[in-house]
Amino acid sequence: MDNQNSNNNMNDENDNGRNNKGKNRSILVMLAISIVLTLLCWKAYDKIMNGTQKEIPYSGFIEMLEGGELEEIKIYSSKIEFVPKDNSDGLNKTTYVTVAIDDEALADKLKLAHQRYNTVYEGVDESGSAIIGTILSYVLMILAFYLFLSLIMKKGGGMMGVGKANAKVYVEKKTGVTFEDVAGQEEAKESLTEMVDFLHNPKKYLEIGAKLPKGALLVGPPGTGKTLLAKAVAGEANVPFFSMSGSSFVEMYVGVGASRVRDLFKQANQMAPCIIFIDEIDAIGRSRDSKRGSDSEREQTLNQLLAEMDGFDTSKGIVILAATNRPEVLDKALLRPGRFDRRVIVEKPDLKGRIDTLRVHSKNVKMDESVDLRELALATSGAVGADLANIINEGALAAVRSGRQFVSQQDLIGAVEVVFAGKEKKDRLLSEKEKKIVAYHEVGHALLVALQKNTEPIQRITIVPRTMGALGYVWQVPEEEKYLQSKSELMADLVTLLGGRAAEELKFDSVTTGAANDIEQATNKARAMITMYGMSDKFGLVQLESVESQYLDRALSLQCSDETATKIDKEIRDMLKDAYLKAKKLLSEHMNALDAIAEFLVEKESITGKEFMDILSKIE
Ligand code: ADP
Ligand code: ZN
Repeated sequence: MDNQNSNNNMNDENDNGRNNKGKNRSILVMLAISIVLTLLCWKAYDKIMNGTQKEIPYSGFIEMLEGGELEEIKIYSSKIEFVPKDNSDGLNKTTYVTVAIDDEALADKLKLAHQRYNTVYEGVDESGSAIIGTILSYVLMILAFYLFLSLIMKKGGGMMGVGKANAKVYVEKKTGVTFEDVAGQEEAKESLTEMVDFLHNPKKYLEIGAKLPKGALLVGPPGTGKTLLAKAVAGEANVPFFSMSGSSFVEMYVGVGASRVRDLFKQANQMAPCIIFIDEIDAIGRSRDSKRGSDSEREQTLNQLLAEMDGFDTSKGIVILAATNRPEVLDKALLRPGRFDRRVIVEKPDLKGRIDTLRVHSKNVKMDESVDLRELALATSGAVGADLANIINEGALAAVRSGRQFVSQQDLIGAVEVVFAGKEKKDRLLSEKEKKIVAYHEVGHALLVALQKNTEPIQRITIVPRTMGALGYVWQVPEEEKYLQSKSELMADLVTLLGGRAAEELKFDSVTTGAANDIEQATNKARAMITMYGMSDKFGLVQLESVESQYLDRALSLQCSDETATKIDKEIRDMLKDAYLKAKKLLSEHMNALDAIAEFLVEKESITGKEFMDILSKIE
């Protein structure tokens, strides 16, 4: 292969026999259609150019000739065409033909007719160039039709294009990514370093008799840098990087996926040593006996992949990396020794990881001295690498928008809000009444944060609506990263979550739909405390629910009898009720502060944690 530029999308259907047969057939069909069209057109053309032709016996021709009725005569070797003088048949001039006869007297009769009646006659040379000309124009016409047809077919795709052109094998000769570009993920990098060394120097491993690793599975939530890590392995080892997404193997047509797998490995083999990266491997590698029922196409694709993995020669230096966020659904056969027997966990970054990620992405961004990446990292707990990269970029864009040369901390904090809550929605105007309700709701949350000392301090309160749906929110930022939460902290969280609704009820004596999200979160939290953390005395230390997919949305499945489930529901209700009562009690004891801060918020629309604390300490 001779890809000069580094990025290349290649079609993978160059050796598929079945496909070639199909292609030949379609060419024949199109050719046949072209020929028929040409003949039809030729006839029509002939008619238009020559008008209608009438056949007449030779004797009739001689009669007309001698009677001086003819204007023009064309003599071919096998026929004679002639046009009569009173050719008044409207637009279409009528020509007559007759079969030529070996008639020696004809020459004299022609001469006579020419002298007497001014009849024009000529012989037409049919040998050589005339025939060649006719054939040539036939061929040209067929060709033109053929081209036209194939153009239409290509545009329409249709049945002629099965399995073509859709499979994108993405090849980078040099990824240019190194481990330095991947922040955090130290453990993952460590376990991949061996792969790099192996790609550099497979001999070393072969000589000692070590079995070479064939593949590793990168497991983690979306956006944590799995693709980036795979590229970095290729970059560090300085080998080409082949990548393909699992979902692009699986098509409607049976057998296409398998042929794509075959092709991918074939191409990789030609460029070994190299890395093959299969993203979303769960799309093909889902367990074959899974409940959803099996479909034969995916199964065939998976079988082909397994066969290729068993078949290829490790000494050539091919390493297969695959990524997934649903390792639990993978077919066991994929995980057997000799296939993806190594698992590299790519977690969401912790505080240090987030600081490093921010640093990597801000390397080429001009920032002023106000920027504090640690503060940003603290404010973004739960964010993945892709989010952090996005935040830096949004911050830089904000600086450009306001015409500054350097990015400030304020830009970046705004960017965090944009990434997590959406852009400010300036055109959504709340009525004064609604604004007031939202303000009391948010300040209710915030006051409970401040009043229960063991929850996190406030960064900002805002009642500017956002594109992702929030009408307002309280932004809390921890002082340090926590890995454990105590029961009393969780309880305090419940009280805080329900504080919005409590404030609304206390102030307006009515409630709104604004608390839906709070209630959802509080319910989930209370449920987890009971069913997973063993924090309810009624149930003790029994696991009542288990997590189904750890790296995605953490779907839960119940592990208990229906009877217990009913009791759990009641316990959740009791817990939330207690929390709500506590929220109301606390707020009602601080109504002055609630009023003062809410009024200030209505006026300002956005206040900082410091302004909030200033008012609170003045009143208390
Ligand atoms: P995944 O494959 O896990 O879904 P990607 O590797 O595609 O995630 O990450 C998307 C982008 O997020 C990367 O191109 C990179 O800019 C950024 N990113 C993610 N994780 C990291 C990290 N650990 N260090 C630096 N950048 C990262
Ligand atoms: Zn709320």
